[in-house]
Amino acid sequence: HPVAAAVEFAGSGLVLPSCSGISDGFFDSDGQMTKQPMRALALSALAPKPSELLWDIGGGSGSIAIEWCLAHPKCNAISIEPRSDRAARIRANADRLGVDRLQVVTGAAPPALQDLPLPQAVFVGGGLSDALMDELTTRLPTGTRLVCHAVTLESEAVLFKWSARIGGDLLRVALSEAAPLGPKRGWKSAYPVVQWRVTL
Ligand code: SAH
Repeated sequence: HPVAAAVEFAGSGLVLPSCSGISDGFFDSDGQMTKQPMRALALSALAPKPSELLWDIGGGSGSIAIEWCLAHPKCNAISIEPRSDRAARIRANADRLGVDRLQVVTGAAPPALQDLPLPQAVFVGGGLSDALMDELTTRLPTGTRLVCHAVTLESEAVLFKWSARIGGDLLRVALSEAAPLGPKRGWKSAYPVVQWRVTL
């Protein structure tokens, strides 16, 4: 019986799934976190490979960088997050999941990127600006994978401008979840997210 077999192998305690887009409950957060479905799409676009380094700009709760590190024991990540309370939370979330290959830099991009080793992939979940895009496109080598998520009109505008300039793929994701609506249920929409992925 397949269910019995799973229980026999995994045990009855808390078990970490081996695919990306793990449940939000694995991460402590103050609400600023890329939730499970969008996180799965982000990791799929980032496509971690053994020995690669990720810059996670706008670390928040660290969920993207932590899942990058969980993808393979040789994956490394650096989270860049200006708020020290969030930087501490990223560290705590990583420690709780046994991830010691994540470095946390407390600071704002682009200045905080100055002395960091160059990555193979970059995720931008916060701090999107022309100055940041200037910095990334100038400094990162050809072949670096870049994935950005935008929720505000202002950050979308940055993505539209730069995608027109250098290409890549735009995906707009508008998720709805069933939620109570009076005595019945209705679809509660999340803010649409625009994902831009480009290989520099
Ligand atoms: N992907 C994250 C959520 C990002 S929320 C997660 O899964 O948890 C956006 C974050 O970007 C916030 O924590 C905010 O403090 C941070 N941020 C804002 N401006 C920034 C900047 N200039 N550089 C780096 N991070 C920034």
